[in-house]
Amino acid sequence: MFISENKDIEIGQKYAPEIEKHLGGKIDDESLQNYIDSVGQRIARISHRPGWEFHFTAVEHKMVNAFAVPGGHIFVTKGMLEKLTTEAQLAALLAHEIVHVTARHSSAAMSRQMGLSFLFIGATAAGAKIPQDASRAAALALQLMGLKYSRVQEKQADVAGMDYMVVAGYNPHGAVELHQMLQEQDKVRPAEFLSSHPSPKNRIIYLNARIQTRYSSPEGLIIGKNAYRSAVLERLPSIVDPASDGLDHLTDQ
Ligand SMILES: [Zn+2]
Repeated sequence: MFISENKDIEIGQKYAPEIEKHLGGKIDDESLQNYIDSVGQRIARISHRPGWEFHFTAVEHKMVNAFAVPGGHIFVTKGMLEKLTTEAQLAALLAHEIVHVTARHSSAAMSRQMGLSFLFIGATAAGAKIPQDASRAAALALQLMGLKYSRVQEKQADVAGMDYMVVAGYNPHGAVELHQMLQEQDKVRPAEFLSSHPSPKNRIIYLNARIQTRYSSPEGLIIGKNAYRSAVLERLPSIVDPASDGLDHLTDQ
């Protein structure tokens, strides 16, 4: 593969802020961000690239999606966070995206779908401030967000992602629940995550099979329903009871 790891990092640094903007910006809640980051870092540390710098950011967009940008910038949307119910499900999602980064799937997809010229433009336009470059950067950021991985890469992200989450201490059923949620979600309104990912049906089958053969007694592994509720669900403004001042839930428990 001709794209170096340093190039991955350079592309990530250059386009991550642009992609963050496209996704409605960072959710303005430091505690929520720290929680998402801590779950992500816990998995990244036991990945095949424990020394790489990863960044996990929750963004405001309502669509149900998550993105991995080369070099280790991972974004998860508010729309997705609202649909998850446990820390293990979040871990499954982040582990899947972490594999896309550590296996360098996006590097392969970039060279296949965006061509060589992008990489050289990306390299030389860094730091340029003229408007032409700004709009080109925006266009390229959109292209990066639209990268599609192959079916084989997706399965690898699912399977290795499940291994990552278990090594990090999470109950692997979270991965199955994640895909069940996406499948349900898709009946109501097509989930954006599924426009770039193969059908959940298949994935639920092979993920369940892996649990049976490898992780048939996940007792003691983290599910984290209460942790996820207090760290994420109760902090997302859109699902807080409008009659509440936001402090009620602290005293209700
Ligand atoms: Zn994927």
